[in-house]
Amino acid sequence: MEKIVVVGASLAGLRAVQALRREGFAGEVTLIGAEPHDPYNRPPLSKSFLRGDDDAVLPGAEELDGRWLRGRTAVRLDTVDKMVAVDDGTVMPYDGLVIATGARPRRLAEHPAGVHTLRTLEDALALRTALAERQQRVVVVGGGFIGGEFASTARSLGHAVTVVDSAPLPMLAALGADTARWLGAHHRRNGVELVSGVRVTGFHGTSQLAGVRLADGKVIPADLVVAGMGVVPNTEWLDGSGLTVDNGVVCEPTLHARGTHDIVAAGDVARWPHRLFGNTLVRVEHWANANDQGAAAALNLLAGPEHATPFADVPSFATNVHGARIQIAGLPQLAEEAKLVTGTFEDDQFSVGFTADGLLVGAVAVNSPRDFVRLKRGVAAGNPLEL
Ligand SMILES: Cc1cc2nc3c(=O)[nH]c(=O)nc-3n(C[C@H](O)[C@H](O)[C@H](O)COP(=O)(O)OP(=O)(O)OC[C@H]3O[C@@H](n4cnc5c(N)ncnc54)[C@H](O)[C@@H]3O)c2cc1C
Repeated sequence: MEKIVVVGASLAGLRAVQALRREGFAGEVTLIGAEPHDPYNRPPLSKSFLRGDDDAVLPGAEELDGRWLRGRTAVRLDTVDKMVAVDDGTVMPYDGLVIATGARPRRLAEHPAGVHTLRTLEDALALRTALAERQQRVVVVGGGFIGGEFASTARSLGHAVTVVDSAPLPMLAALGADTARWLGAHHRRNGVELVSGVRVTGFHGTSQLAGVRLADGKVIPADLVVAGMGVVPNTEWLDGSGLTVDNGVVCEPTLHARGTHDIVAAGDVARWPHRLFGNTLVRVEHWANANDQGAAAALNLLAGPEHATPFADVPSFATNVHGARIQIAGLPQLAEEAKLVTGTFEDDQFSVGFTADGLLVGAVAVNSPRDFVRLKRGVAAGNPLEL
């Protein structure tokens, strides 16, 4: 292999380039990235960055060893002639391709001024400015991890916050019912108004946002809205390429795009059969996954499908909401049963194990890092739950 093209210059793309060089790949590496910035870390954008801390540095980003098409978007992939077409008319030939184009926020049908999403540095700067300008009546649409973190940060800055979630409890699928109930109560105890089980249908206000309209006819007054309704993978540029795209780039266990030997995918855009979970196709939208998978995919690209290693790290994620550290491992949503393992919900310190066929498939821990590590190991080993 002499020419490798990496599309997407964020966490997964950066880790892929670094791994190629670490492995001794001396050929040409070209990185195509739609954003104009050096790769940066997104996790601070919903937390410290909104409070005025500028640090979103992604270690290693300063020493990218490759040709870098910055602020350029890949618009088409030709897998027959092995070329990526770029929006400025450039065509980049490749022998090997890494797809790391991540995901973007799902948007509401209407998107008037005052309604924000939170994915990029620009998004975070706009929100930081709005929060610093004056007291805001904030409505967060969606009680997932981005919505929850934003709500928590906005409350800590003294703003009035309402979270509207169409599910009956926040983060129900990811956390299971008991922990989601705890999270709802935790939001309320910290001054967040939580409106559950109802959808947002539109907005009030003509020149200026005045409120959020709900499916039950109610209107919640709002100056600032953050839509945190999940993400969609950035795959449109792959239309017509022949790759299998279905809620992400569908891959083999080794992260090779299904049916190919010279294309891999990594990070938020990749969907692959996970060996630990009965080869269920999973797409993981977390930092550690993009970080580890970017490198793993690049090494598998160099190794070729026959010598590649299946990617089977336990998905793992942490979030901070109103001072509580919530950690999730595995896929709790696959569980048939959930059991409290340590602590109590009342003390805001506990861990829960999730099982399917009697074996651990997921774990959630709140303010219990040691118990989390133990349970995560159990998920990796597919152990039964020991109480
Ligand atoms: C506000 C926020 C907070 C978060 N907090 C946490 C957290 O606390 N913990 C955690 O585990 N995870 C967190 N995450 C998730 C984590 O940041 C992502 O999982 C991670 O960024 C995924 O990296 P990626 O490289 O796969 O994709 P991305 O970071 O989405 O990067 C993809 C890049 O590809 C570019 N691109 C897209 N299409 C094209 C194209 N056609 N051509 C060229 N370039 C293209 C995009 O512009 C982007 O720069 C957070 C995310 C956000 C937004």
